[in-house]
Amino acid sequence: FVIPDFLEFAKHVDEIYEKVKEKNAGKVADYIPQLSRYSPKYWGVSVCTIDGQRHSVGDCTIPFCLQSCSKPLNYSLAVSDLGAEEVHRYVGQEPSGRSFNELSLDQKKKPHNPMINAGAILVASLLKPNKQIADRFDFAQNQYRRLAGGEFISFSNATYLSERETADRNFALGYYMRENGCFPDGTILTQTLEFYFQLCSIECTAESASVMAATLANGGICPLTGECILSPEAVRNTLSLMHSCGMYDYSGQFAFKVGLPAKSGVAGAILMVVPNVMGICTWSPPLDDLGNSVRGIHFAQEFVLKFPFHNYDNL
Ligand code: GLU
Repeated sequence: FVIPDFLEFAKHVDEIYEKVKEKNAGKVADYIPQLSRYSPKYWGVSVCTIDGQRHSVGDCTIPFCLQSCSKPLNYSLAVSDLGAEEVHRYVGQEPSGRSFNELSLDQKKKPHNPMINAGAILVASLLKPNKQIADRFDFAQNQYRRLAGGEFISFSNATYLSERETADRNFALGYYMRENGCFPDGTILTQTLEFYFQLCSIECTAESASVMAATLANGGICPLTGECILSPEAVRNTLSLMHSCGMYDYSGQFAFKVGLPAKSGVAGAILMVVPNVMGICTWSPPLDDLGNSVRGIHFAQEFVLKFPFHNYDNL
């Protein structure tokens, strides 16, 4: 086993969980009613190792939307399908240094990276563009299910409809990118934006999301099914971008303090990857000023204090 004394490990995870539970700061996102209705008390941590050992504590079976945690998954699917060179004709690899939904492009008039909205909308345009839109959604959702080893993946239509109603900035980003010739020929802009909102509205649980993170930790092979879903190139690139750009305007500090590839979303989830060891999903809706889950950030920091998983530990 990759974690020889898993019971001992799980006990420490529970201790950190209990300690972090007391952190009551932060605010549940309220730009759409579907998010604002989540209790600020929800708190779950789920772990899945690359050899399939599981541990969950707290609210790990309650569905929530992936929101921005879908961004690395979509990028990894696009790169597995098209190769990195093709994908990066359209999107960069550089932290933007700006807010996740800032109306800006890099010097080459590309979105800075796939982890911010502009880049993620672009990546949505690259997912099976020659298929019918319904088949494109099915493709993405089915791939998510495979990444999660067949565990809970669903879709919140109410979230999708609300996202679409309150998406002025995302529409602005879409038109701005179209004006600058960012999209591949033949892209239908409204359809692409709607697809992006749908991808944000795909639901998981902390438990199923920990399996998706574990698939990334395991080089694209789901530890529960042994199925190969992502190419090695896609996994490497996805983890690199999560490491440098995954945590909004806290990405540099997170890379410094925690040193693990991670992506957070506005529903309060954080996907974290310990390469070659495990995937972790923390979920707690209250967010700090930068948009990251307060309890998730605390957990990550305590976790690397307890275990030497920071990228530059043990040198
Ligand atoms: N649906 C949100 C948006 O595109 C995603 C926000 C997030 O999780 O960062 O604005």
